[in-house]
Amino acid sequence: MIIPHIHPPFPLTWGFSTKLDDPADLPPVRLSQVHGCAVVSATDAIQTADGIWTAMPGLRIGVRVADCVPILLAGIVAGKPWISALHAGWRGALAGIFRHGIEVFHAQGGDLSSLVWAFGPCIQPCHFEVGEEVIEAARLDSAWHEALVSVGPQGKPHLDLQGLLRSQGLGLGLNPANEGSVPLCTVCRQDILWSYRRGDHSKRQWGWIEIG
Ligand SMILES: [Zn+2]
Repeated sequence: MIIPHIHPPFPLTWGFSTKLDDPADLPPVRLSQVHGCAVVSATDAIQTADGIWTAMPGLRIGVRVADCVPILLAGIVAGKPWISALHAGWRGALAGIFRHGIEVFHAQGGDLSSLVWAFGPCIQPCHFEVGEEVIEAARLDSAWHEALVSVGPQGKPHLDLQGLLRSQGLGLGLNPANEGSVPLCTVCRQDILWSYRRGDHSKRQWGWIEIG
């Protein structure tokens, strides 16, 4: 388990699982993830969405990833702890999954400047080669800036997915001092992380969080 690099705003258990984690610690599957932008309240039934939130202490929620970005959020709503986990690949990022998760918190009365947020291990710019059409789509996002793309060894564009999400969050008013992201690359760190791009087509790691 890799813990976000920030002090939690209230007692909580959270982090990003690795190959070394005991499967018994992982949350039950509550989402059917589709690279969209839906964010739902946690239930025991499996819902089609890429984001989940709860204010219930002791309820362990999370998302499964293997190159996409797991995002964990923790804040206070109406004086009580509120948590969320989001799954963001480039499609989900451009569809607005992170913005939508932030908006759900805000709509319930949460103060954006106090929201604690962390991106977990994902495919980083060192390995995230994408087609030119992905960069063209990303350029249409209001959070885009050219430093988010670099040219890889094959002459193809490489995208900074965490950087794009960060720019989106800061644009909505998140506090940069409240970020606890882990900048590990799933392709580089075969020793501890699964990577779809590297060939792990059935294995996933989790970003998960629980109040208490
Ligand atoms: Zn890498």
